[in-house]
Amino acid sequence: MTIESDRQAHATPAEVPLNPGDFDMGTSGPALHSTVDIVVPSGRSSTVAAALMKGLEVYSNVSGGLVTADPTRAEEILGVYENLGLIGQTDTAYPVGVNVSQRLAQHTTWPGTISLDARIAAGELSHEDVVARVELMSRLYVPASEGAPIRCPDPRFLKNFNGFDFAHVMRPIGPQVIAGTLGAAIARRLGEGAENWDNITLRDDVEELSDIEERTGYKPGDHIHEDAKAGEMGCKGVDSARQNLANLHDVALSEDLNSLTRSIIGQSGYHGRTMSLLRGHAIEMSAHADTYLTDQAALVEQLKGRYDNSLEVLAGPNNAAIVAINYVPRTTFHRDLYNYMTGNDMQVVNYDYWRSIGVATDLATNRSGQVDGEARRSFLHARVAYTVGTLMSMIDGSQFAVERVPNDFHTARSL
Ligand SMILES: [Zn+2]
Repeated sequence: MTIESDRQAHATPAEVPLNPGDFDMGTSGPALHSTVDIVVPSGRSSTVAAALMKGLEVYSNVSGGLVTADPTRAEEILGVYENLGLIGQTDTAYPVGVNVSQRLAQHTTWPGTISLDARIAAGELSHEDVVARVELMSRLYVPASEGAPIRCPDPRFLKNFNGFDFAHVMRPIGPQVIAGTLGAAIARRLGEGAENWDNITLRDDVEELSDIEERTGYKPGDHIHEDAKAGEMGCKGVDSARQNLANLHDVALSEDLNSLTRSIIGQSGYHGRTMSLLRGHAIEMSAHADTYLTDQAALVEQLKGRYDNSLEVLAGPNNAAIVAINYVPRTTFHRDLYNYMTGNDMQVVNYDYWRSIGVATDLATNRSGQVDGEARRSFLHARVAYTVGTLMSMIDGSQFAVERVPNDFHTARSL
């Protein structure tokens, strides 16, 4: 395992932005007309250019939803992205550290079939390739735009995304949390449990959660996939809900589930007793899955009916190679530009953990502003554990793990 951290390199403590307007990506922010002086470390520019070129070559060979672009414009486009602050300066303007570990799973191999180990063993790519990619992806964090729909960390390509189309690249994007609003609704129920499981459905829980999300500055959202099987929507957090729940009470997976949940929440916030209660609720939800987990088509219609752009349409294969946990408030990963530049070969599952903290606090705050610590803790544990449980259904755990943390890590973790 290698740990890299540049937290020490920044003398100024990070200022945690309180609202999107406070977020400064550099000297001028990401306005289309802006030009800023940027310092690109030697070699960086050509590395990214090579990645962009590679992506363009890939796209010239792919049809159906994926664009064919002109490789001769790669340098020009790259320069524009740099000037916008999308590449090459975000982590110097807003000091963060990036911790890298070469393996997400620590104790066992997970049930998911997507495997970085298998691809490395087959000679498709090397550890060094992934390390280089971590460097690139860590520069593709942008502000999460208030009012934008919540996104899922599903790492696949956004259908018809065009990296040469500015309006498309700079469109407002919301934070990434597993299965978006649907996943938050499942997690909330897992945390709270139910008096009578026969009387509740995911559909009702989604309706309530959507109201809450709109109050907290983002629009409800999730995604579908153009190749989803009949009866499925293409989001692992929903389609594999039964398996995800089973992972939460599978003894063989419990060590990894506990240690990853503890590592994300932090030692001081983690409670073993809360995890035990959560496991009990997962067993109960599993037992009532036939009535609680409303069919996917109805959920898709529900979100669509609520807001036009609430469902992204993803396309192509899942090549997850990196799992990132992002602790930097009000920032998110530009999955689409990253995939466009790199040809989808080493995709990134990014979880904006800061968003879960915000929802946990909001859910646990009563009308007079008092926060119920127990309720907050329950949701947070459920949200993180269900995320890990979903990842266990998707990948085998051999992916790289990346933590993106502000200098003032403790403040960000307990917001
Ligand atoms: Zn999803």
